[in-house]
Amino acid sequence: MEYKILKKPEYGQKIEFKNEKIFVSDNPIIPFIEGDGIGPDIWSATKNVIDAAVKKAYDGKKEIAWYKIYAGLDALNKYGNDNILPEDTLNAIKEYKVAIKGPLTTPVGKFDYVCLKCSKEQDGIDGNRPKKCIKCGAKFITPRFRSLNVGLRQKLDLYACVRPVRWFNGVPAPVKKPEKLDVIIFRENTEDVYSGIEFQENSNDAKKLIGFLKEKFNKDIRKDSGIGIKPISITGSKRLIRKAIDYAIQNNKPSVTLVHKGNIMKFTEGAFRDWGYELAKSEYRDEIITEQELWDEYDGNMPKGKVLIKDRIADQTFQQLLLRPDEYSVLATPNLNGDYISDACAAQVGGLGLAPGANIGDKMALFEATHGTAPKYTGMDKVNPSSLIISGVMMLQYLGWNEAADLIELALEKTISNKSVTYDLERQMEGATKLKTSEFGKKIVENM
Ligand code: NAD
Repeated sequence: MEYKILKKPEYGQKIEFKNEKIFVSDNPIIPFIEGDGIGPDIWSATKNVIDAAVKKAYDGKKEIAWYKIYAGLDALNKYGNDNILPEDTLNAIKEYKVAIKGPLTTPVGKFDYVCLKCSKEQDGIDGNRPKKCIKCGAKFITPRFRSLNVGLRQKLDLYACVRPVRWFNGVPAPVKKPEKLDVIIFRENTEDVYSGIEFQENSNDAKKLIGFLKEKFNKDIRKDSGIGIKPISITGSKRLIRKAIDYAIQNNKPSVTLVHKGNIMKFTEGAFRDWGYELAKSEYRDEIITEQELWDEYDGNMPKGKVLIKDRIADQTFQQLLLRPDEYSVLATPNLNGDYISDACAAQVGGLGLAPGANIGDKMALFEATHGTAPKYTGMDKVNPSSLIISGVMMLQYLGWNEAADLIELALEKTISNKSVTYDLERQMEGATKLKTSEFGKKIVENM
């Protein structure tokens, strides 16, 4: 791989894949992106926790060779020229296969510029780029850009967004029995509404498309409509569902539920369900049983050692996850359903602050915090690093370093149930001790 600015890491070895199997040395090189806003604070705590767990779990025989790579504000400082997602960064993830990142600023409004320091979006002055931010005075103003997170997922073809959601003992939650929810959501990451094919109302392209659909297919669409295209393919669906079933088999999970809206959208959402069953029956015949087979052949009694493949309509899934959460385990979803369900599940067990995430492709994975850059807390050593820490746990599991992953999970749970927490949880718990980000990280290490 050619790099413009990045230097080769001084020690450690590359992670390799041979015949789908991961090979990890005792000193794997793992690139990290600190992230914008609160990124450096939560990354620092996360790194300390991961390093301490690895050291303890393997008596100092293993150690991650961290390799700093750049995106967002960090990249702007290092690479200049508005280069906020350098090729170097993409190449490093491709070469070293497993990486972890903090949150990155994403402009959401309609303004022309954004400050990478405080996320304030703003218009140009007389058509020119503002010299400094109207809110924080920083000089890190860039033209608006599309989400770097989406860019990373698309350019690296990280097609499965994986979000485990479970309750951690002690976390205040809005439902009576939060411990009953323990799911892992595999959400398709590259198509459906994420393909980003949209035409603004009254634009020439929208008018052309409306005319084309009327002329060729005799379909009437209101003239003042914006139009979005929702492609869902066999390729995209099957590779995602394959990941979900593989995960269920490898981790002894009882079921995989295909979540869709096939009653309304037959050839996209409904097809996702059909292709899922087709894949399960053709590639995993001995390991799975469908819900239909369960009732037709086994009178509803689940045979031992099989994974149940079932499907649910998306709206019903929301009800079921609240009313009968323990009947669900692995969920496989097209993009938009998964987006809603991930956040709803996370809220059910006490909020997004603790929800980890990973974007996984073929022989490549990027682990990340699921919340944003919370710019008002930048540099205050205040926020909760749990989302990134638990993403680190997922990363260790992906490496096969389960002993270190378990140490962190248990210590994190102990820390929270002892009521030693950051401000966001402290204000919801009675008699809790409020810790800074760094102190919370240290407490987890003490509790290992
Ligand atoms: P946000 O998640 O950054 O913050 C919203 C609020 O949630 C914060 O003000 C804070 O009160 C709370 N919060 C977030 N993370 C927390 C933590 N770790 N501990 C305690 N409290 C926390 O959402 P936002 O304000 O809508 O977005 C800010 C920026 O982040 C935007 O540019 C947005 O596009 C971007 N963003 C990035 C990602 C990502 O990189 N994956 C995800 C979401 C948003």
